[in-house]
Amino acid sequence: MPQKVKTRFAPSPTGFLHVGGLRTALYAYLFAKKNKGEFLLRIEDTDQERQVTGAVENLQKVLLLFDLKWDNKTLVIQSERLEHYQKAAQQLISAGQAYYCFCSKERLDQVRQIQQTRGVPPMYDGHCRHLNPDEIKNQLAEKEPYVIRLAVPKTGQTKFTDLIRGKVIFDNQLIDDQVILKSDGFPTYHLASVVDDNAMAISHVIRGEEWLPSTPKHILLYQALGWTPPEFAHLPLLLNPDKSKLSKRQGDVAVEDYLKKGYLKEALLNFILFLGWNPKTDQEIFSFEEMVKVFDLTKVNKSGAVFDTQKLDWLNGHYIRQKPLGELTKLCQGFFQQAGVEKSVEELEPIVATEKNRIKKLEDIVEATKFFFIQPEYEPALLLWKDLTSQQAGENLKLLGKKLNELPAKDFEQKILEDKIMAFLKETGKGTGEMLWPMRVALSGQKNSPGPFEIASALGKAESNLRIKKAIALLEKK
Ligand code: GLU
Repeated sequence: MPQKVKTRFAPSPTGFLHVGGLRTALYAYLFAKKNKGEFLLRIEDTDQERQVTGAVENLQKVLLLFDLKWDNKTLVIQSERLEHYQKAAQQLISAGQAYYCFCSKERLDQVRQIQQTRGVPPMYDGHCRHLNPDEIKNQLAEKEPYVIRLAVPKTGQTKFTDLIRGKVIFDNQLIDDQVILKSDGFPTYHLASVVDDNAMAISHVIRGEEWLPSTPKHILLYQALGWTPPEFAHLPLLLNPDKSKLSKRQGDVAVEDYLKKGYLKEALLNFILFLGWNPKTDQEIFSFEEMVKVFDLTKVNKSGAVFDTQKLDWLNGHYIRQKPLGELTKLCQGFFQQAGVEKSVEELEPIVATEKNRIKKLEDIVEATKFFFIQPEYEPALLLWKDLTSQQAGENLKLLGKKLNELPAKDFEQKILEDKIMAFLKETGKGTGEMLWPMRVALSGQKNSPGPFEIASALGKAESNLRIKKAIALLEKK
């Protein structure tokens, strides 16, 4: 029977979830689900200096928000599994595949410096690799601090077939005698990763390309421990549009930064799906269920994936327009609150409706609809349509204002208002431009804005009339 598919996401809880991390988690999840397998979560917290409180909880929260549910009931937390790594390290020592290294930091620095001046790659020089057993015994008895290093073969090659990159070959002589257990008894990433992938029966290790150089070390560890390595798939790097590596310096890389700006989770996930993968069809919009159906690891590209925020904006706009108005308004409400606007969903709905088709992210709603909450300031000349004079514009606004005042407040609803005002224009023989341009500017104070009926219905009768009066006064002063 073929091995059950099991993938894992193995983040280090160092603060925030990187967009690249979300992609790794998504691909590992989709691959597992597509193959009726399991997706597991493991917390790689063996680098105690880099821990951030709350990071583990935060990671879980973000993964769940995106519906990336892991299948293990209890989390695998590496700092709770030290004895397993220590046992593996001892097994390697007994088999002669690893050795104690008592070199001081000063000595290692010196070696590195010499290598640097010679222009050779910095590597451990093997000083402790051939200590005799008595020497080792003595140093251990004297409680000399030590690390354990992997005894990497000095000749030959380490090969594996990556599911994305194909055959990968490393010369062993270029692989360092990697530290696998540190002097504090904690494992390094390499040992912990191999011990846990084996213990968790991971069938496919899916991770970012930056881990590719670590993989020969892992393969050597599997061989030395007598275990069968899993399959490996290294995902392409994420790049800025200028093809440099995606970095914090050039913009946001934390998933939460995007959420805070009002990118919808559906849009983000859909965007992330395309970072290195595409269905080879024209389809661009994928629901979560569709992703599971179509995802195929062999269709992942080798070359770097450009993180194109314009595409993200486009997708987000699409998902914003798809959202039912009530739901969208609820999501926008938080952004209004942050800007100090305390309004109910019912009050906000007609306002959100005016910009729903235009905003790219939810945070844009506040700026785009500001004129609904703050009486707009504008130049009176803006009220003049084509060669209309101030006097004519003022008269038109008076005529309109009178009509609007006669209408009951319940008629301030886009469709009704539009029907009534258009009928009124016909009756009076007035043109749409000369009447509706000043009306729209009076209500919005903007050169470009939603239409006058939409705005008036969101503002309501009293505020609409107030703004028209203000515009008339402005024109009279001119
Ligand atoms: N802890 C590593 C990370 O933070 C995991 C690498 C791997 O998946 O093996 O990305």
